[in-house]
Amino acid sequence: MRILIIEDNPVIAANLYDFLEGRGYGVEAESDGHRAYQLACRQSFDAILLDLGLPRMDGIELCRKLREEANIDTPVLVLTARDTLEDKLKGFGSGADDYLVKPFALEEVDVRLQALHRRRSAKPFNGILQLGQLTYDSKKMEISYGNAIIELPPKCMRLLGFMMSKPEKLFTRAELEIELWGEEQETSERLRHHLHLLRRALVNACGKDPILTVRGLGYRLEASD
Ligand code: CA
Repeated sequence: MRILIIEDNPVIAANLYDFLEGRGYGVEAESDGHRAYQLACRQSFDAILLDLGLPRMDGIELCRKLREEANIDTPVLVLTARDTLEDKLKGFGSGADDYLVKPFALEEVDVRLQALHRRRSAKPFNGILQLGQLTYDSKKMEISYGNAIIELPPKCMRLLGFMMSKPEKLFTRAELEIELWGEEQETSERLRHHLHLLRRALVNACGKDPILTVRGLGYRLEASD
């Protein structure tokens, strides 16, 4: 899941960012309402966390513009310090899907995000992907081989989970970069680094490297035991 955090309080934004990235989400953050609107139009996200009081364009206006002008139906979870019914109602009138009143527990954010995602996704997904003896449990954020858990940094875990969602598919470098960082990278270094970490962990755990490099084309995860 890719999440956009729109929040101008740097402490709240950083807490959300670290927490959600630790849960394996792809996360972008923006503090300026106008720039956030542009980012939400340019890239695709699975959910948006939206503060209401923002510089240059407030959250209500941003949400209204997303729905009415840009025609974007990404679920919006409003984060508001204004614990008044009027503000909440205004938020829903602008097209927000849910709200949380500050201060909120980070766990609660995750629960709400998953609920929004479930409501939206057409096909049910129990959160578990399987490929041979490799298992990816997106709810527990755990990858295991047989009974042994493989320790991986969050980005490597997302990379493997993404590839396991379509085994045998050839992924281009750009597809993998967009999944991890939301956009193509200038050089292939960043992706290569994460692939290297992932492969090393897989070789240590499974005794082999299931990721095939197809020269000049991309990468494929091979289904085998
Ligand atoms: Ca604010």
